[in-house]
Amino acid sequence: MAGKVILNRAIYRLILASCVRFANARIPEEEWGEIYGILIGYIDKHKNIIITEAYPITHTMQKQFLLKVSYDNPDYVDAALIEEDAYTRDPPQFIVGWFHSHPGIKVMFSSDDIRNQLGFQTNNPYAFGIVFNHVRLLRQVEIALRKGDPEIPLKNDVGFKIFRLKDPSKGTQASYVEVDFEIQDVSITPEFIEEAKNFVGDVTRLLPTGDLVQFTKENMEQQKAKVTEIYTGTEAYIKTLVKKGEISRIESVIESQRKDMERLILPMDNDFRQLSELMRYVEYKERGKSINGMNLLMKEWNDFTTQIKEDFQKLKTRY
Ligand SMILES: [Zn+2]
Repeated sequence: MAGKVILNRAIYRLILASCVRFANARIPEEEWGEIYGILIGYIDKHKNIIITEAYPITHTMQKQFLLKVSYDNPDYVDAALIEEDAYTRDPPQFIVGWFHSHPGIKVMFSSDDIRNQLGFQTNNPYAFGIVFNHVRLLRQVEIALRKGDPEIPLKNDVGFKIFRLKDPSKGTQASYVEVDFEIQDVSITPEFIEEAKNFVGDVTRLLPTGDLVQFTKENMEQQKAKVTEIYTGTEAYIKTLVKKGEISRIESVIESQRKDMERLILPMDNDFRQLSELMRYVEYKERGKSINGMNLLMKEWNDFTTQIKEDFQKLKTRY
């Protein structure tokens, strides 16, 4: 029988980010959505299943409503395209499993999930399903199936489990078992869990449910306006100083204003650094547009900050 499922830190972060994108502190809990995606990989000589890539495919804005990816669905076409491309790799790769979120809900297979898993496992006996609940990660508790039932405390829990049907020939009556996994390039320490929790915060702040490029552009324009305001304010103040004959103060005024400006530029620089990772974690259909658009924004921001820093330098000698 199959060995364990092996993923890596980037795939873990992608799945976590795509779950949190539609279920986070900025969204009222009754509007939390579930996400669905597919996993590409291959089986190694030890019968371990190596996940090489994860693709978020779609989401719903309704809890406990599983998306069905059927042949007439555009999402199915996406999955087919992804798999076609994966076959051409070395070693040839294919859809090894799927992932979906149970935001704030117990990590388990529902009867819909079993039906969906049957679709995967009938074609490929090794196929598995990842169920992710980021609330489990954040609170380190096993959420009870029913409200009021006790929660079980957890330690260093990554927020997901992997399942496979015991005997798919039993159809929708099949029971499921947990599948062992390993995140190969990390050890699951309290530090790793802390890092993952912080990442949830970053995703909540930076990855909107809607258009990432538009959302980031608005944030960037706001920062640009604030930075420009500091520059024009400084320039006007220097002109006053010149008029008053207080030229000796110019240098220190520029210096303190330059620091204020840096304090505005730095957080946006950091955001863009994180966004260069997050822009790849959107749904498959958004990916191309997201990466292109974000690269253009990053260039625009870099050009802007380089220019305004130069202009600031020039202020020192201009008057
Ligand atoms: Zn489910």
